[in-house]
Amino acid sequence: MKIKRIEIVGFKSFVEKVTLDFQEGITAVLGPNGCGKSNIVDAIRWAMGEQNAKHLRGRSMEDVIFGGSETRKPLGMAEVSMIFSNQDGLAPPAFRGYAEIMVTRRLYRSGESEYLVNKTPCRLKDITELFMDTGVGARAYSIIEQGKIGMILNAKPEERRYLIEEAAGVTKYKSRKKTALRK
Ligand code: ATP
Ligand code: MG
Repeated sequence: MKIKRIEIVGFKSFVEKVTLDFQEGITAVLGPNGCGKSNIVDAIRWAMGEQNAKHLRGRSMEDVIFGGSETRKPLGMAEVSMIFSNQDGLAPPAFRGYAEIMVTRRLYRSGESEYLVNKTPCRLKDITELFMDTGVGARAYSIIEQGKIGMILNAKPEERRYLIEEAAGVTKYKSRKKTALRK
């Protein structure tokens, strides 16, 4: 699954809707310190279901909602949509026939949150399962942040095994087995 487009509104420093188009090949994001480069990566991680505010460089989840600036009032909602192409057919069978998959996450200041796939409300679990074994998920290896290489090299064999299992495509089955045994 390849990212085609990201739409961000009300998330961190993005006030009005911003659409980022990803072309074939490598995309580089350039800009001065504090202009919002890392916020794009946070937006991607968040849309894919990140639950830990610290991994998004915040204290609480509310910190992802635009908190106001000298000239603008704070907003009441953050929304990030990621649009993936499904040309490689890697997505679960339920998405067969869809050329694009759109994953959306919304958070209101009231604390209420929503997840949507192709504009239909769904559970966080559905989003997590969608990305399992694709290497894309919030916990997988598609985002290599500062310190991650060192972390992988220094990890215990059991920890490193999680990455290998994700790459091999067995994460989904292990997760389902665990759920089944719990019931
Ligand atoms: P650097 O080159 O230093 O890594 P960067 O381009 O990665 O910079 P970011 O960390 O993405 O910059 O953006 C930081 C900016 O985002 C800061 O100006 C900060 O005030 C702003 N910001 C973060 N969260 C919010 C929020 N909830 N509301 C408004 N602005 C926010
Ligand atoms: Mg940065």
